[in-house]
Amino acid sequence: MDSLDLLKKGEFRVAKNQPRQFVGSKEDPPTRTECRSSFYWRIGNGCSVSLWFDNWHPRGPLNLYFSDSTIYASGLPRQATVADLFTNCRAMIKGVLDSWADPLPTLSHSSDRFGWKGNTSHLFTVASAWDLIRRRKTRVSWHTFIWNNSITSRYQFNLWLIAKRRLSTQALLLYYGRIDSALCPFCNEVPDSIDHLFFGCRISASIAFFWASRCNLPWRNNSWVENLNWAATFLMGKDFYKCIARFSFGALCYYIWKHRNSILFREQSLSVPEVKNQLIKVVRDKATTYRNVDDTYRNRRLQRSWGIDPIIFSARDYSTSTGL
Ligand SMILES: [Zn+2]
Repeated sequence: MDSLDLLKKGEFRVAKNQPRQFVGSKEDPPTRTECRSSFYWRIGNGCSVSLWFDNWHPRGPLNLYFSDSTIYASGLPRQATVADLFTNCRAMIKGVLDSWADPLPTLSHSSDRFGWKGNTSHLFTVASAWDLIRRRKTRVSWHTFIWNNSITSRYQFNLWLIAKRRLSTQALLLYYGRIDSALCPFCNEVPDSIDHLFFGCRISASIAFFWASRCNLPWRNNSWVENLNWAATFLMGKDFYKCIARFSFGALCYYIWKHRNSILFREQSLSVPEVKNQLIKVVRDKATTYRNVDDTYRNRRLQRSWGIDPIIFSARDYSTSTGL
């Protein structure tokens, strides 16, 4: 039985490298071949689309399903176009494709059009390509908190590293065998870790309580995950008070990590007042970028706690900046 007979019986070979579903899977990123399946041809007159090698059929390029010998025996050359498929003398291969569940396109007088499956406009964009191939995971509860515009970008990045547990803490380096021993530079009691630095350590905890008292927040020190979830729940909002509370939380974590590194790598001595003063300075600087702040009891209390310039309650004076 030759290949043509097999073709007539619908017994064709299925190539090993079939396109597989990758969107939403937890497998490795898609290969080049798999990405190619996201581009497709919408058939018009069929004259510019390769019958065997272009992605025009719902199942993908036909060469994935038919062997070279079968293609040769079909009578349609490797250079054949989709339009050639519909000529009467080539009805045999068309009959095979008709036997599949996927309907064949109808030829028209319009040109064939190249399309992209990644978005509804069928136009390729990098954003839609990324959205198509990326792994999708459950959205984390803290993303709107960490990436909020109230928090300075370097604080955001630090918070993100903490949330992802990617900071190079001593516990992490010990785990990977990069160091043999280490002790928290704040308390010298145990190797530092995410939970220890934020804010299981008695030193960093004292700084966190200082921050909470300045913000007049009912702080209950828990694990890092609980602290972050608490912040993501209670520090959200557009008003001045919440913006400063969010910003200062990001600054708190940033300066604890920065001071920890200064002690370890720049031979600085531990100075809790230095961290507190740095925190006060950046909060005051941030707050004075605001104007027309509502003169409420809560905002006044926050302003006094941090020693913020009361100019925040007045309207912005544009005459100075415009030179009038
Ligand atoms: Zn410690």
